[in-house]
Amino acid sequence: MNEDAKWAAVSENDSSFDGVFFYGVKTTGIFCRPSCKSKVPRRENVRFFDSAGQARQEGFRPCKRCRPDLLSYQPLKELAEKAKDLIDSSIENKLALANELRNLGLTQHRLAELFRDHYGLTISEYSQRVRLEKARVMLAATREPIANIAFDVGFESLSAFYRFFRKQTGMTPSAYRQTCQRPTGQNSANRGPANQSSANQISAEKREEN
Ligand SMILES: [Zn+2]
Repeated sequence: MNEDAKWAAVSENDSSFDGVFFYGVKTTGIFCRPSCKSKVPRRENVRFFDSAGQARQEGFRPCKRCRPDLLSYQPLKELAEKAKDLIDSSIENKLALANELRNLGLTQHRLAELFRDHYGLTISEYSQRVRLEKARVMLAATREPIANIAFDVGFESLSAFYRFFRKQTGMTPSAYRQTCQRPTGQNSANRGPANQSSANQISAEKREEN
């Protein structure tokens, strides 16, 4: 979850993120749950924390209104977080990931429910986001051949990866890479020549189109 998403949750007092993160207001030294009904602070005064403990360590005191301190012990939340960490770290290996999720000790149904309650996304929606983000970063910042990237983000075939990427972004992976790596482009992530793996990209696109 990035800071913009956290800020949106704070602005909307979104209780589905209670326990997922906390925010502190630098000018008051108080920290709150995202759902706190007190006046929405100015964004530049806000800091985000992963836990109530972290907010306290940084010298913030719990808000008397929303009592974020009462959220500090949450075994269910921990399970949801563990599931999320597993997805983040094992996205490239579906089988291992499925096993590890099973080892959390909840039924698939219960885990799915818990995850959705905490993050507002299904496990598969979240996995897709992680795949897409990882693919974007690798495309933008590395010269890794696209076939390797597809594999690294958990696709067994290049064409499945192409379909997925195009559906999510409206672009092919190689077009996306060119946008990011264009030497004169404004958002060029990598100013060096980006031709090293172009032969690979072209053949990948041909295979996709066939
Ligand atoms: Zn509060």
